Amino acid sequence: MTDEPAERTLSPDEAFEVLGNETRVGILQALGGADAPVSFTELREDVGMTDSGRFNYHLDRLTGHFVRKGEAGYELRRAGERVVEAVLSGAVTAAPVLERTEIDQPCHYCGAPIAVRFREERVELYCTECPGTYSRTDSDDETCIDADADDGYLGYHPLPPAGVADRDPEAVFRAAWVWGHLELLAASAGVCPRCSATLDRSTRVCEDHDPDESLCDACGRRYAVVFDLECTNCIYDESGAAVVGLADSAALVAFMLDHGLNPFAPTVETLPAISRAYNNFDEEVVSTEPFEARFTFAVGNDELTLTVDDSLRVADADRN
Ligand SMILES: [Zn+2]
Ligand SMILES: [Zn+2]
Ligand SMILES: [Zn+2]
Repeated sequence: MTDEPAERTLSPDEAFEVLGNETRVGILQALGGADAPVSFTELREDVGMTDSGRFNYHLDRLTGHFVRKGEAGYELRRAGERVVEAVLSGAVTAAPVLERTEIDQPCHYCGAPIAVRFREERVELYCTECPGTYSRTDSDDETCIDADADDGYLGYHPLPPAGVADRDPEAVFRAAWVWGHLELLAASAGVCPRCSATLDRSTRVCEDHDPDESLCDACGRRYAVVFDLECTNCIYDESGAAVVGLADSAALVAFMLDHGLNPFAPTVETLPAISRAYNNFDEEVVSTEPFEARFTFAVGNDELTLTVDDSLRVADADRN
């Protein structure tokens, strides 16, 4: 179907105002559930409104930006589909609970079982034995560390509430890996996973880093290098260890695939090795002015060393 441009764009204020109405959200949901364009009368009945004049007013508010009126009837524009998708992903309606649960998945550092907890659209990961990746006391780093996080915090994967429904905790973890990895791929390639705008990339290094086999007292993290991404358009931002900026590296992807490890579609059997390779890497800061670092990823006895610049772009890839 050809899609003519929206008649006009809405400011954020206007968009919130248009959507802040039960009838209008009901119209979008009704159109979202339809397989074909819907007539005015059919749509009014679907939404359960008898007053044709009032219904027309609400439909009119949506038409142009969220809804398209064609000869065969009304249907969603892409912007309307996105609203319905957001509602159905459970962001607004469902609140599934997954309390901290130990699962049959080894910690990528120490091999002890990890535990998962679902909270605020995130699957948080905890090691049941070692200190994990982040100390809970590092309050400077608000994106990595959650004040409510327990000891052994390994980080999180994003997951909408719909991802928790009908899955056992192991399957929730795998779904969160897949979902999070897709998001990471877009982000590391410089495309905002929320709005598609450009992301700013930057790198920070803990100058007094002393992890002593686990977490650094100065920064509270296992790794000295922190990679930051910030959207130039929306409120998306993300911080994390180097792999956050390296997920799109062809050398890293090829290295994984060559070992039979597909990070895009992990299985029960492959996820432990994938998780270990991505998260338990060696870090060497070569210089800070200008920034240069080497990260070495391992699968079995094979190693891949990536040399990167200050925006974590790979300057050199070396396998042995
Ligand atoms: Zn551990
Ligand atoms: Zn440090
Ligand atoms: Zn964005």
